[in-house]
Amino acid sequence: MAVRTAVRAAVVPAVGAPLEVTGIELPEPGPGQVRVRLAAAGVCHSDLSLSNGTMRVPLPAVLGHEGAGTVVAVGEGVTHVLPGDGVVLNWAPSCGACHPCSLGEVWLCANALNGAANKHARRADDGTDLHPGLNVAAFAEETVVAASCVLPCPDGIPLTDAALLGCAVLTGYGAVHHSAKVREGEAVAVFGVGGVGLATLQAARIAGASRIVAVDVSPAKEELARAAGATDYLVASDTTAREIRGLTGKQGVDVAVECVGRAVTIRTAWDSTRRGGRTTVVGIGGKDQQVAFNALEIFHWGRTLSGCVYGNADPARDLPVLAEHVRTGRLDLGALVTERIALDGIPAAFENMLAGKGGRALVVF
Ligand SMILES: [Zn+2]
Ligand SMILES: [Zn+2]
Repeated sequence: MAVRTAVRAAVVPAVGAPLEVTGIELPEPGPGQVRVRLAAAGVCHSDLSLSNGTMRVPLPAVLGHEGAGTVVAVGEGVTHVLPGDGVVLNWAPSCGACHPCSLGEVWLCANALNGAANKHARRADDGTDLHPGLNVAAFAEETVVAASCVLPCPDGIPLTDAALLGCAVLTGYGAVHHSAKVREGEAVAVFGVGGVGLATLQAARIAGASRIVAVDVSPAKEELARAAGATDYLVASDTTAREIRGLTGKQGVDVAVECVGRAVTIRTAWDSTRRGGRTTVVGIGGKDQQVAFNALEIFHWGRTLSGCVYGNADPARDLPVLAEHVRTGRLDLGALVTERIALDGIPAAFENMLAGKGGRALVVF
């Protein structure tokens, strides 16, 4: 192995074990690899799901998949970025060769997470090999990733803001524009006001939605939600679907976007749409979350229920579009961040997420 240098990183040793901030040793980038010094990394609910076993990747791993930084070195054959370039990390690179890729559905690439099996680093203290979580291992001062995991950062976007483009914004924007295909004048309900929920609210505003109802268990997020575009705010209860119909001439919203991943919110989202309405599920739940529908209501309501992976986004195509929305002020990346923290702050950020508090915590290096 070539020369290694040590940097600090947040490591998950095993399922359910507490995160450890420790030194890791990274190799120089090999052929087709890029070494990146992180500027910032967002703490996403999926990081929590990976650490507690709701989602599985090989462990021990360096988590973090929403980041941006500066290229410090490139391996042989890498030509699309150079040392000194600002880049956004893409945790789901597409192979271009599998069946979904051949259909242009790159967000469903069968090989997107192959890199998770690699060992990209090792602990400085005991030499244990480490996996790169969702490919990019962004909870670290530096990381080494496949060249397909870095996209040039669009001009004019500070790297700390650009980090959010890598997961929350692509997901929320894509849920509205690619999955639900919200049209101007439609009414939209967004369930869950975390990082993705806030991005979804902003995307609904960009789409020209007439009414945007935000729903969350916490009354404390109303101001954040309204600043992101919500015209109405509801604290989740047994009567949420009825309240939403009340706000929309008894019909229900045209589109509901569920950003929680729980059976009760998926069911409520579906119930809150009009006849023929569309529900997009962005939230990632566990196998214990069983959603029930009866056969008659599926027929009668004529509704659609769709899953949505990574916003059905093609990062290479969508980043420039998002950047243009940022430059014109339609998309406010800074407004998604509710807390700026250091690497050591990630466990507390996980606790906040479990307690339903806050929007996006951003690790700033
Ligand atoms: Zn994420
Ligand atoms: Zn593919």
